Amino acid sequence: MSKTDPALWRDMMAYLRQKHEPICRQWFEELRIADFSGGLMQVQTSTPVQQNYLQKQCLHPFTEAAQDVTGQLIAVRFVNGPVAPNVRIPPPSAHTTHDQPHPLGQAHSHPPIRKPVRSVQLHADGESWNPGADQMVLSPDYSFENFITGPNNQLAYAASVAVSNQPGTAYNPLFIHGGVGLGKTHLLQAICQQILNRDPDTRILYVSCDSFMNHFIQCVQSGQMSEFRNRYRHVDMLVIDDIHFLGAGERERSQEEFFHTFNELYQSNRQIVLSSDAPPSEIPRLEERLVSRFQWGLVAQVAKPSFETRVAILRAKAQIRGMVVPDEVIDHIARAMDTNARELEGAITNLQGHASLGRAIDRGLAVELFGEAGGGPRGNHVSLQHIIDVVTTSYNVRLADLQSRRRHKSVTEPRQVCMWLARKNTRFSLEEIGGHFGGRDHTTVMHSTKTVDQRREQDPEYARMIARLDEQVLRTANTAGA
Ligand code: ADP
Ligand code: MG
Repeated sequence: MSKTDPALWRDMMAYLRQKHEPICRQWFEELRIADFSGGLMQVQTSTPVQQNYLQKQCLHPFTEAAQDVTGQLIAVRFVNGPVAPNVRIPPPSAHTTHDQPHPLGQAHSHPPIRKPVRSVQLHADGESWNPGADQMVLSPDYSFENFITGPNNQLAYAASVAVSNQPGTAYNPLFIHGGVGLGKTHLLQAICQQILNRDPDTRILYVSCDSFMNHFIQCVQSGQMSEFRNRYRHVDMLVIDDIHFLGAGERERSQEEFFHTFNELYQSNRQIVLSSDAPPSEIPRLEERLVSRFQWGLVAQVAKPSFETRVAILRAKAQIRGMVVPDEVIDHIARAMDTNARELEGAITNLQGHASLGRAIDRGLAVELFGEAGGGPRGNHVSLQHIIDVVTTSYNVRLADLQSRRRHKSVTEPRQVCMWLARKNTRFSLEEIGGHFGGRDHTTVMHSTKTVDQRREQDPEYARMIARLDEQVLRTANTAGA
């Protein structure tokens, strides 16, 4: 082994802090260089979930840091568990094609050091298990430790912990519902992580409902239904995020298929975890037999956080990023933003961005970014949720439609209007706005606002309608509760 020098690692961390601040997390402190030889730096992680997350989401910044600090063309790989020294100099692109870890973060008990791609594992029953490309990557941020509980989410949290301790027996299915940004995805991921960190071989399939439905349609079209069934029915736990989409699109056959998947897993005591923007009985166009099945286990709601919970969430989010945020700033944001945790997280990211440009994090900056708040008038503080409420009511669409991948005009138009109103009336960045509407990137938000502006110029009726919505957003935001 050579050069596992802590100074080298410190320099890399400093480089990341300077050049890639947004990805930096407190838990990076747990990482260390396990081996650095033959042009390959192997970075030891504490959990398989960390390993998978870093390999999938952070490889480029770490490689850049390693190359900058050493002045050499080296590759980086994240490992979990025992490490064998590297014997050959890998080709420069080797790190992007070799040794992909298991998509959900299962560790190889002996990391295969120089072997080709594998995300397939062999199990005791001799069956190969490949969770597939659309399996979602778990973020170590979304752990139980990082979840702040309050009266708004206590039951959902306790049930999630119970399920992760006794999958298949505690509550089956576990059904978590609530508005956007209230921690549903966080809890789903925390369950997966807790189980995988304890038993990396558990076959967890964690997908969005969109993926489930798209995959189903593809398999129907290509006559690969047996593969589809094999994939969804031979797992230890099935976790589907945003299951309310089952009421949209090609729904009849997808619901039928999901019904059978559900039954098969349920009957063999495999855990099912679902999240939704509404309770089972209120999901539009959901078949009655699914509604009743979703109620068989435990239905738990996540609601808006109280002031105290918002303070705790802000503190936690700052801490995860290793930021020091004064109490008065935290207090100010918690008063200014009363909708959901995603907005709170956006506020911390926003502060982080300004801090990295050399601004002091103080009350002045908070007022500038988030407006006046607290006991006094709310200024024209407008939340994204408020804009969404106004627009979805006016267009008679659901938030789920706005966040979906659908491109039909009935959905794209209100989505664009929301983005335009958010640009005009909030201080959220393009990325944050895009993130709120189904994880779209900043160019989509720019394009949307431009489209609305162009149409306002050309179409006076449309311009009046936008002006009315804008006026309604501002008027009702000012009078919305303190
Ligand atoms: P949802 O899936 O309900 O729309 P998410 O789980 O994606 O919401 O949450 C949005 C953001 O808010 C995430 O960054 C998540 O970590 C954070 N968050 C939500 N609720 C909490 C909570 N109770 N404690 C800490 N962070 C939270
Ligand atoms: Mg979610």
